[in-house]
Amino acid sequence: MSMINGFTSADATRLSASQRRLIERRERLLGPAYRLFYERPLHTVRGEGVWLFDEQGRRYLDAYNNVASIGHCHPRVVEAMHRQSQVLNTHTRYLQEGILDYAEQLLGTFTDDLDRVMFTCSGSEANDLALRIARHCTGGTGVIITRFAYHGVTADIAELSPSLGSAMVLPAHVRTVRAPDAYRLGAENVAPMFAADVRAAIDDLKAHGIRPAAILLDGIFSSDGVLPGPAGCIAEGVALAQAEGLLYIADEVQPGFARTGLNMWGFTRHNVRPDLVTLGKPMGNGQPIAGIVGRSQVVDHFGRSMRYFNTFGGNPVSCAAGQAVLDVIREEHLQQRAHHIGSYLLDGLTRLAQRHQMIGDVRGAGMFLGVELVTDRATRAPAARQARQVVNAMREQGVLISAAGPHQNVLKIRPLLAFTQAHAQMLVEAVDTAMQGAC
Ligand code: PMP
Repeated sequence: MSMINGFTSADATRLSASQRRLIERRERLLGPAYRLFYERPLHTVRGEGVWLFDEQGRRYLDAYNNVASIGHCHPRVVEAMHRQSQVLNTHTRYLQEGILDYAEQLLGTFTDDLDRVMFTCSGSEANDLALRIARHCTGGTGVIITRFAYHGVTADIAELSPSLGSAMVLPAHVRTVRAPDAYRLGAENVAPMFAADVRAAIDDLKAHGIRPAAILLDGIFSSDGVLPGPAGCIAEGVALAQAEGLLYIADEVQPGFARTGLNMWGFTRHNVRPDLVTLGKPMGNGQPIAGIVGRSQVVDHFGRSMRYFNTFGGNPVSCAAGQAVLDVIREEHLQQRAHHIGSYLLDGLTRLAQRHQMIGDVRGAGMFLGVELVTDRATRAPAARQARQVVNAMREQGVLISAAGPHQNVLKIRPLLAFTQAHAQMLVEAVDTAMQGAC
């Protein structure tokens, strides 16, 4: 079987006949670009709360998916979408109240300077639009990103996503900086290194006659290896870029919507003031809704000379889903819960490091955690094979996580915000058991 999944080639000898049939059909119909997770890919048929169910009815604790962040098939979202789709679903070229009510509430979660919102259908589109705005406002083309960033799939944004692999050659207008890797660079060094890298990137762009337009950063540096970094560590580098006229685009597709704990938005931890913020994934709990929030000065400069229409972006059903997500975050106190359960998880995983030599570092912000596996704590050599073993062993135990980073040796743990302490305990125990078998 030629299929390569997220971690390794599917182990054909361990697949059931029905799994093999589905994989072959998928390859035939969708082609090789689509990758599956796990040596024994999971056939999901139903989701409810923190659980996914396979075709046998077995349940899996979901500590990976941040789209259905408030819980799979959350009844409030399902009901809101159902209600709205019975009444009206069109586009944004008619007067409608729902989009405005939602826009007001969404903007209410930001500081007053971020006072405009525009809607898209995906995080990629949001980043693409933010990049267009930045280029329009600055007259530049150059972009600064981190070394193993991922920002999406459009032609312009894939070029800003080196984590897509070596086939993605960085174009001349892109410069990379090191992500704030406190484990490998030292906690006290990351802020000055980040600022120095940004300085060097701007200088180098200019030296090549390229005017910089934007610095685009995922606030939790997920694909770089889940690197929250010390709070505030990117502030100096970002301020320096803004002083040079670049727009700072905070990509909140991963850390947004309460994921990082008490803060609704991940960038808040870093004490920075974005010009544009891009949103996606958990925004509609599964309904495709995404967008940008920005300073009116910037957004209006673009909008005055450029018409914007996105057929599905901001449609009434998507806005109803987005509104329900905001309501649930508020009413179920998910910011506080993400902080509380996230701290509990961080403690539990940190305690595991006392027993498992392979755990080099445990880090996180709220409900986004990384456990970096190394074969040797002194050299910090990445334990990629072992990370793969742990991810696959946990899947067999019924707990879903993934791996991230340039070496894929960082356990990427991103539980649904609906987790309780009991779920967190199950997760820690599953990591413990899986680590015992990794070698
Ligand atoms: N930015 C980041 C940081 C992401 O992780 C992703 C998706 N993984 C995107 C943007 C793109 O979002 P989408 O897949 O909705 O286009």
